[in-house]
Amino acid sequence: MSARPAKEPVAVPADIQARLERAGLRRTLATRAVLGLFLANPQGTLSHAQALVSLTARGLDINRVTLYRLLDRLAACGVLQRHADDGARTWRYGLADHEQGLAPRFECDACHRQFRLTEASEPTRAVATDLFRTLARLGHQGQRVDLSIHGTCASCVPQEPAA
Ligand SMILES: [Zn+2]
Repeated sequence: MSARPAKEPVAVPADIQARLERAGLRRTLATRAVLGLFLANPQGTLSHAQALVSLTARGLDINRVTLYRLLDRLAACGVLQRHADDGARTWRYGLADHEQGLAPRFECDACHRQFRLTEASEPTRAVATDLFRTLARLGHQGQRVDLSIHGTCASCVPQEPAA
């Protein structure tokens, strides 16, 4: 009952959407088409040339330089991962692995923006590991700890008067 009607052919996961927004990447037709390629095959990787062929086959008119820049920007903001393909001396791109054991998020109660904390400290990770062990002892398979922190984000915190 909670399913929302899909407005777009490719549903962009919320964490990817958040990364795009933080990086200031506009969701152009090209961006969505490129994301669609990777989301359609989440485990796969593509070279620039392969991505270009697939996009062209789908009817997208994108030039190779634009595609290079777009792939690099998606890699820079952590949506894609870039691997060196030694044999071909080129880069391969794939969806970055966001399914970590721990996914801490911070939500601002004032503006309701969500921030994903990508770097969890060692003790925090240890807590997640401990929880998974507890679950495993009970025969459950834990995959992800969703840690949600609420508060006021940097933009919403009232400015302190200059000292
Ligand atoms: Zn805020």
